Amino acid sequence: MKTINSFNYYMPVKIFFGQNCITENASAFKTFGKKALLVTGKTSAKVNGSQKNVCDALNSCGISCEIFDNVECNPSVENVRKGAKAARSSQADFIVGIGGGSPMDAAKAIAVLAKNDLDDESLFDKNINQTALPVIAVPTTAGTGSEVTPYSIITDPKIGNKRNLSSENIFPRIAFLDPLYTASMPYNTTAGTALDALSHAVEGFLSTRATPPSRLFSIESIKILGKCLPHLQKGRDTDPAVRTQLQYASLLAGIVISQTGTTVVHPMGYALTIHKNIDHGRANGLLMHAYLEFISGKQKDKVAAVLGAFGMDDLNSFRDLMDRLLGKKETLDDHEIKTYSSVVLQAKSAACTIPAPALTDIEMIYRKSLK
Ligand code: NAP
Ligand code: FE
Repeated sequence: MKTINSFNYYMPVKIFFGQNCITENASAFKTFGKKALLVTGKTSAKVNGSQKNVCDALNSCGISCEIFDNVECNPSVENVRKGAKAARSSQADFIVGIGGGSPMDAAKAIAVLAKNDLDDESLFDKNINQTALPVIAVPTTAGTGSEVTPYSIITDPKIGNKRNLSSENIFPRIAFLDPLYTASMPYNTTAGTALDALSHAVEGFLSTRATPPSRLFSIESIKILGKCLPHLQKGRDTDPAVRTQLQYASLLAGIVISQTGTTVVHPMGYALTIHKNIDHGRANGLLMHAYLEFISGKQKDKVAAVLGAFGMDDLNSFRDLMDRLLGKKETLDDHEIKTYSSVVLQAKSAACTIPAPALTDIEMIYRKSLK
């Protein structure tokens, strides 16, 4: 009989999933106070109906709200400090983050900064238990899983990298997932965010921090993504049933990384986003095949389990699907590969990869993926 190593499992997010879930569960907002700050991006939440549904639900509970709709993609420290100022001046009791990972992550950092006067170093200090206003998350993309994670990924231009604010206090209190909101995503966002979900499920499965329950969520998420990803076609509408499955797979993969964190793919992807302006999910997708090839040197059975769940026999078929989804790929020169790799080597999540990658391994994954 297999032994089970000791593990922890903590998932405090109340999840509502399904069409109209906000309207049908509006009373869930009631316990958080009388004033909300909505944190969102410039346009999409107004187009896909999520902002209106949240405002109507708050209204029906007698809760007033103000809107901070200036969240940038890959929000910066300065951007979330502006949001925190809005939270303080509106005297918000809680924050509702509506949008992709960028507004949801911004909402979490704003929730911390609204309550605490922190300099940049203290904001990201893992040894400080940062308190926060309650956060409610409404995803409108299907990939980051931020609605169920205790992480807020913020860009720090001073160090030219992304940083992770991680605290149990920023787990959203509620996640409302209505797959209808994702219907307006263009192909690039649909495919990119789905690849982010795949990356979470796969990296979590192969991480030093994987646990028996996190592996269950990984395998189910990978199975669903294996069925959905082949349906995505540039220039074609995505079937609503596929969108619903993608939203569910993203949720499961978010639960995975809430337990395990990520591995070397994510910090490698951050460099591509910061320096080459490549979307987060796409960046991970570009690296995924070479990463799995590298991992299979040490974890052959686990990589076979990933491919099996994905519905594939070998890494070549996996690469063919990735190539089709990604289209024309970006390239890196040798100087870029060397510079990014030395930064990635220092990342905490890189050390959760099995086998632990050396500098030359990271360079090799970049080279195979983007040369
Ligand atoms: P995003 O940066 O939130 O949004 C990308 C673009 O998609 C924006 O232009 C946005 O428009 C648009 N958009 C959002 N929903 C849409 C919809 N339903 N229809 C049409 N367009 C829509 O993208 P993301 O990939 O979801 O999030 C990426 C961020 O999440 C990165 O910063 C990444 O580091 C972070 N992340 C966090 C975690 C975590 O656990 N916290 C995990 C993975 C990734 P608007 O600006 O108008 O809204
Ligand atoms: Fe991610």
